[in-house]
Amino acid sequence: MTVRIADVKAHVLEARLSQPFGWSFNRTEVRTGCLVEITTESGDTGWGECFGPAQLNAAVVNAFRPHLIGEPALATDLIWQKLYGLFRDQGQKGLVVTALSGVDIALWDLKGKWFEAPVWQLMGGPLRRQVSAYATGTYRLDSGDPLDYVVREVEGYVKQGFSAVKLKIGFGVEDDAVLIKAVREAIGPHVGLMLDANHGFDAVEAIRLGNHVANLNIGWFEEPVVPDDLGSYCEVRRGQPIPVAGGECEFTRWGFREVLTRRAMDIIQPDTCAAGGLTECKKIADMAAAFGIRYVPHVWGTGIGLAAALNLLAVLPHNPPRLSPLEPLLEFDRSEHPFRQAVLSRPIEHADGMVAVPDGPGLGITINRAAIDRFKVSGRENIA
Ligand code: CA
Repeated sequence: MTVRIADVKAHVLEARLSQPFGWSFNRTEVRTGCLVEITTESGDTGWGECFGPAQLNAAVVNAFRPHLIGEPALATDLIWQKLYGLFRDQGQKGLVVTALSGVDIALWDLKGKWFEAPVWQLMGGPLRRQVSAYATGTYRLDSGDPLDYVVREVEGYVKQGFSAVKLKIGFGVEDDAVLIKAVREAIGPHVGLMLDANHGFDAVEAIRLGNHVANLNIGWFEEPVVPDDLGSYCEVRRGQPIPVAGGECEFTRWGFREVLTRRAMDIIQPDTCAAGGLTECKKIADMAAAFGIRYVPHVWGTGIGLAAALNLLAVLPHNPPRLSPLEPLLEFDRSEHPFRQAVLSRPIEHADGMVAVPDGPGLGITINRAAIDRFKVSGRENIA
């Protein structure tokens, strides 16, 4: 039976933050998002999300629209290949793939609703029904001393039950080293601590910092250097002992093929809303398993992207399988995001640092349309 796509809409949402925050190379006063809504001739609706500049993603989704209307909605792989093929010459990385990711996630949501099954079931799972989450936060504020407010923030995450936290660095090797030491002392020896430089270093700096803090039991060193320089990634892996993570700015099986064959990272972090959607990220995950490289999805958006990541996490293979195997972690962004959970009728929350995989049909979420309308940008200039 064939059910065809009737309409495709891109919704651009935006909300001003109560307190602007920054990371190694940028600062923001708003959170934005591009949500994709696809409806079928049978009246079903699927939702997806694109990671990255919302207005630009929406423009690409709108360019996809005529190629999607009338297509068989359940043919996720076919549609992926068609769109990628049509835009391949200028779209191998970046916005074409982030927009395609949102479309693909919406189609999986639709497929699950059509078959009345969770996405993870259609993908052959579940291997797990809940995931251990780590807290992402520690962004820089316009005033105050990070040695004070960042340390208090991570202490809060430990109190909430998170078994691991990720610290933003990339503000200078010496200052970062002092902050890392203070955070390790504050959270004690048993809570996981990861570092994220948002590619704020060159290889020399990253190697110096990695060696300097290696004795503080660091889980991984994320995006030490710019994503388009895998040579520097290889240098950082060779030059210091902390496992190197990255990949939130990498795309498709072809992009990750280079990461894997060059063994540029110990842990890859494709964003389901950026690297090609659920269709492509399952392929990338299987490739990573074949190379013996860990997979921890990058998550930084609304509850829709979070639900997509959880459905994928539910099927990520153990590598190696053993009586107590290593489990993938869920990135749980704790920074201010006014519509992260508001777009869902029932928010996805953690309990003592654990997050349950949704078990409803499709992505397992219900959209709060009033929230979409409330945060939707319409007819005015906005910041992408
Ligand atoms: Ca990151």
